[in-house]
Amino acid sequence: AKEHGGTRHRRYAPEMDERAGEEARLGAELRTALDTGQFRLVYQPIVSLPDGRIVSVEALIRWDHPDRGFVSPAEFIPVAEQNGLIVELGAWILRTACAQAMVWRNSLGDAAPERVSVNVSARQLAEPGFTELVASVLAWTGLGAQNLIVEVTETAVFGGGQAVQAVKDLHELGVRIALDDFGTGHSSLGLLQTVPVDVLKVDKSFVDNITMAGRHAVIATALIQVSNGLGLQAVAEGVETAEQATELHRLGYRLAQGYHFGKPVPEPDFRGAAVTIVA
Ligand code: C2E
Ligand code: CA
Ligand code: CA
Ligand code: CA
Repeated sequence: AKEHGGTRHRRYAPEMDERAGEEARLGAELRTALDTGQFRLVYQPIVSLPDGRIVSVEALIRWDHPDRGFVSPAEFIPVAEQNGLIVELGAWILRTACAQAMVWRNSLGDAAPERVSVNVSARQLAEPGFTELVASVLAWTGLGAQNLIVEVTETAVFGGGQAVQAVKDLHELGVRIALDDFGTGHSSLGLLQTVPVDVLKVDKSFVDNITMAGRHAVIATALIQVSNGLGLQAVAEGVETAEQATELHRLGYRLAQGYHFGKPVPEPDFRGAAVTIVA
């Protein structure tokens, strides 16, 4: 690159090309991965406090790439959103998660988690016919609408339009709506006035350091108050220690999720005693 002048601008250009090329490769491989069954779902418990009972599970996608090994969804979901494959991939995620939830209901009865929570991206939500897709998946699997939670981010519904309409239609169907990573977006509180929301997933960043009196604890407290005041359920995300769980319970949180209670796995132990909070 030196012989081309070596300006800041020129030195950066090849790296950007490389990055674009890498994304294009990844995008093409996503297509193959979907066609050849390289994706699977894992499920992370969402438990009630303080007893640690698993009330629902969040479905999270995993990609076991034949050469690259594990590729994080944080890396490939944005690429799938960019090239549009998320629409088809998202439909597969929805069908697989709802079918799995039915398998648990049929085999475990009362021990089965009450609900399965599925992440839906902005692009999927804005896609015409998304509500019809959800309705047909529910009909096909036999899962009740009340047993499904759709997790959307604030950013996905921020723009209004088709995405907000889809959320309203889903809510009308009886599907629960969760606002994911709550508090990290742009208009968190304002959105609660325009979008029908049932669950607030309080972002991990507010749970970290919650045991040290300070800003995190103040915000976590404010969020549980907003949630309770509006009659919503709050889920504390990313709980990693018993001390955090205890503090969250003390602040009024009744639902939590995180490595402390269970990592995402293909088959959580619904019958086993979950980790509870410290006395
Ligand atoms: P998210 O929806 O906020 O999911 C929570 C992420 O936090 C998951 O990462 C989960 O494994 C991780 N996590 C849970 N508990 C803890 C904890 O105690 N400590 C720490 N450090 N992490 C914890 P994962 O599975 O890598 O997913 C990352 C993101 O990728 C998700 O964030 C979501 O935005 C996206 N994603 C994952 N699966 C799907 C999917 O099926 N569809 C869509 N559209 N997006 C997905
Ligand atoms: Ca989520
Ligand atoms: Ca989240
Ligand atoms: Ca997140």
